[in-house]
This record gives sequence, structure tokens and C-alpha cells, in this order.
Amino acid sequence: MANPVPGTDEMASALHDCALLRKYDVSGPRYTSYPTAAQFAGGFDGSAFLNAVYGGVETIAPLSLYIHLPFCENICYYCACNKVVTRDRAVVRQYLDHLHKEMALLHLQLKMHHRPVTQLHWGGGTPTFLDAAEMTELMHMTAQHFSLTRDSNRDYAIEIDPRTVDRVKIDLLRGLGFNRISLGIQDFDADVQHAINRIQSVDMVRDLVEYIRARSFHSLNFDLIYGLPKQDEHTLAKTLDVVIALSPDRISYYNYAHLPERFLSQRAIDRLTLPTAEQKIRMLALITDRLTAAGYVYIGMDHFVKPDDSLALAQRDGRLARNFQGYTIAKAQDLVGLGVSSISSFDRVYAQNATDLEAYYAALDDNHLPVAKGVVLTEEDVLRRAIIQEILCQRSLDIVALQHKYAIDFHSHFAASLAALRDMEADGLLQVTPEAITVTGKGYPFLRNICMAFDEYVQAHLQGQKIRYSKTL
Ligand code: SF4
Repeated sequence: MANPVPGTDEMASALHDCALLRKYDVSGPRYTSYPTAAQFAGGFDGSAFLNAVYGGVETIAPLSLYIHLPFCENICYYCACNKVVTRDRAVVRQYLDHLHKEMALLHLQLKMHHRPVTQLHWGGGTPTFLDAAEMTELMHMTAQHFSLTRDSNRDYAIEIDPRTVDRVKIDLLRGLGFNRISLGIQDFDADVQHAINRIQSVDMVRDLVEYIRARSFHSLNFDLIYGLPKQDEHTLAKTLDVVIALSPDRISYYNYAHLPERFLSQRAIDRLTLPTAEQKIRMLALITDRLTAAGYVYIGMDHFVKPDDSLALAQRDGRLARNFQGYTIAKAQDLVGLGVSSISSFDRVYAQNATDLEAYYAALDDNHLPVAKGVVLTEEDVLRRAIIQEILCQRSLDIVALQHKYAIDFHSHFAASLAALRDMEADGLLQVTPEAITVTGKGYPFLRNICMAFDEYVQAHLQGQKIRYSKTL
């Protein structure tokens, strides 16, 4: 029976076409921003950030907040996050004191306390490394400097390591105002869990899921990974059985990138236990087949959601956006990132905090914002960012509207990009007309490849400048 969501059957058949997958399995950015973090330049400090955003802040427009909490009790071997692995609980005190200072400095300089915080995200590391008193203190200090809201339309999300929470902590999180939860699952197979040093039983996760449901959180996301050591189609099929039975509202199924020269913990993974590129492609097809057959909608780049989930509805209404956490609903234009390594995004500027704790603490001890890198967008960046966002979120591009908004002749301005798309058009991944670019169902797995045609920096990279990206599939 054909899948009722347009394009799903074509996407599934593309994922069984090994020659097509091999052809487009190249390295490329994940486009959580444009320009991507690879273009953020050093020497961009707190003053440069304040200068770049100043003037855009006398507003009551909604705001997003991201708070990075880097501590983890145990190391997961596959990890590529910015984290500090420690059993010393005393580290939290020092971190919270510095977060408080960062908030106070921003409060003083940018005066954002009239802007309702419609989106809040605690990421990590392991945010639930904090105990109940520390989490409560963090929420209170945030409320001191920013305008948190109880509006039911808010999206307040937290990433949870299931091994670090119990029912009492879930109750606390609900009481603190969180209404979305993302559980780090990765895989349910015991051998795989052992190989990645992350043991968490199905029973424990099931108990947690049932309790989260009972506490009326608006949505529950599972983070999963394919391409892990000891994983094969057989183990993955069993994990998918459990995932589908637990029925999360959203599923992010990431492709594991093995880069041990860059991420030290990955050296604990035996390369010989990793699935081959061919196996990974078959896994991706299996994931897509099973999740779409179970009724999930593929919204793009690793993300599956239930058809009535707010992300699926936002995609239908043209309100879907992409930020550093992946797909989101465009509820606020500006994002303030707090904590080590976090990234802020204002209209024309991205700014990233120092990525190591020492530098982060030192800047704040010196009464400076801990910004270490950033970029001010050019007119051309803004235009290309709009195109990349629209393709990733809507899987189409309205050329007429774009020409009108940016006063350009699209076909001459992007002649090189259109030339780069010709091969993909011939392969049936998209259609180009004078009015629009439309990605076909067959092209859904290749959104990153399509966006790369509009990415000036990747094109420069293809012509010889070195930037390292993960594989697009
Ligand atoms: S995967 Fe998450 S919990 Fe595991 S080490 Fe990395 S940040 Fe910590």
C-alpha cells in the first residue's frame, strides 16, 4: 500500500538504490547554521559580539535561550559533544557561578529582560548531572535575568540521559516549566551498548517513558544512532521494534561518524566492529522503511515525527526552521547561547563561547563575555542562508518570492549553483523551473547535497581549501 505522505515511497526506493547513494555519499555540513561553525573566526570577542548585535536589541520580540551543561558521569565512546567527564560533583558550583555571571553581563549589556523567552533548551553534556537543588537554582537565576514564560505555547526542552533521572527528577523538571524531553537512547542492543559504554535497559527506559507520558509533557524525542560498533541490520531491526512500541513523538536517527583522530573517546571503539558503508546504507533504508510504515513522517535530515506533531504541522504551514539543536519551530529570531562552547545567533551575527572551561571561566573572571569566535554575515550570506533554510525545511524554494525580497535575478545570480544542480535534476532528485526548485521524494535523503550547491564556502572547499565535514548520508 502506498504511504499517504507524499514523496515517502519515492524516498524509500531511493534509499534502496545503492548506486545513487554511493554517488551522493560525500562529506558536507549539517547546516545548523549558515555560514557553518567552520567559518567562525577567532579574534571575535565579547565586544565584537556586542557591537554586532547592538541596535537589534531594543525590542520586545521573543527570544530563544540555549544553556550548555557540559558534565557527564561516564564517557560514551561514540561521543562528539563538548563535555567534561567527572565524578566530582563540586564542579557544578563553579560552573553555575560563572553561568550566573554570564547572564548578569548579558542582562547589563543587552537588556533583553523584556523579551519573552518562548524557547529554552538545556543541552550537554548531561544537563541532569545537576541535582534537584542545582537545577532549581539554575532556573531561578535564568528567571532573574530573562523573561521566562508559563505560556502553554512555549517550548522548554531538556536533554536527558535516562541513567541519571528518576520519577522525582521528572516531576521536578515538569514543575520547573519544561514541557519537552529528549531522551538519549542510541541503541537497545546489549552488545552495542557494551561496545559504546552506555548500558541502559529497555525496562528502565520504558518505565521512564510511561512516567513522562503520565506527566503530560508536550512531546518526547528519542535520539538514536546508526553505524555504531556491533550494530547490524538484525540488531537494528530489534531496536526499531522497541522504539516503535515505545512510540516517541519525535525520533532523531543520527549517522555515527567515526573520527578518532578528532574525538579521543572514539579511540576506544574497535574499527573492525563498525558496520561497513554498504551496511550503513542498508540500515538507513531499514530505519526509513520501518518508521514510515509505523506512521512517522520524515521531515528531513535524520528527523522523523508523528503526523500530528508540531514539527510536522509547522512544515506544512511553512513555519519550520533549523537551529543548532536541529529542526525547530520559528518562535524567536534571536538565540542566546549560555555556557561553555554555546553559540548565539542574532540577525546578522553568530558568536561562539570558548570551548574549554578554563578559557570560559577566565573571560568571566575578567568581567568579559566569554565569546571566542564568530562571524558577521554579509548580504550574500544572509541571502544564501535564506535559501538553505527554505530547502532544508520546506524541501522547495520559491524563486519568485526570493527575487522579490532580495531584489536579485535568481537565475543569473546563482548560475553556478544551478549548474551544480543539473546532475541531481537529471537523477530525478529535484525539479527546477523559472519559478521554483522542488525537491522530489527521491531527493529527500539528499537535502544536504542540494544545499551544498548554494554554499559559497563548501564550493571554495571543493576547489581546494580544506574544511572537514561529516558524510551527508
Ligand atoms: S554522549 Fe552525552 S552522556 Fe555520553 S559522554 Fe557524550 S555528552 Fe556525555
